[in-house]
Amino acid sequence: MDAPVLVLNANFEPINVCNTRRAVGLIFSGKADLVMNGRGYIQTVTRSIPIPSVIRLDQMVHRPRMQVRLTRREVFRRDNFTCQYCGRHATHLTVDHVFPKHLGGVHTWTNVVTACPACNHRKGGRPLEESHMVLLKVPKEPPASALYLFGRHLEQNDEWMQFIHGW
Ligand SMILES: [Zn+2]
Repeated sequence: MDAPVLVLNANFEPINVCNTRRAVGLIFSGKADLVMNGRGYIQTVTRSIPIPSVIRLDQMVHRPRMQVRLTRREVFRRDNFTCQYCGRHATHLTVDHVFPKHLGGVHTWTNVVTACPACNHRKGGRPLEESHMVLLKVPKEPPASALYLFGRHLEQNDEWMQFIHGW
């Protein structure tokens, strides 16, 4: 019941991922329709209920433009798990503030990059210019496309691709 279910808005835009329990609840309360199943059935005393993989909300949900949450994991993912100073794929990675926090640097997408411990140490809490180090690319906020937001589920749920593609 914890398997992820893709939730589509009434206009078919993918907006969320919830668990099976919640998805079944939404269908039962008439707030969503089953779009795709294929994960078998839940057997109750009186009937069997198809287990959803994709559902669609009946009512259009209006929401602000989607954004990628600024977390360590998402910073690493944006930077393809690559140190933005030396280009190495390190197993242990850190988040570096390009303009250091202790000097007033802010925690925003444009001021954080993935750094290997060696480069982070070498930079040593200095601003970029003072450290004489160079970034591989200018850090930006990642696009909140459906593929970016929900792509990590695709390996296990490739049937979602047709609903995610193009949003
Ligand atoms: Zn490095």
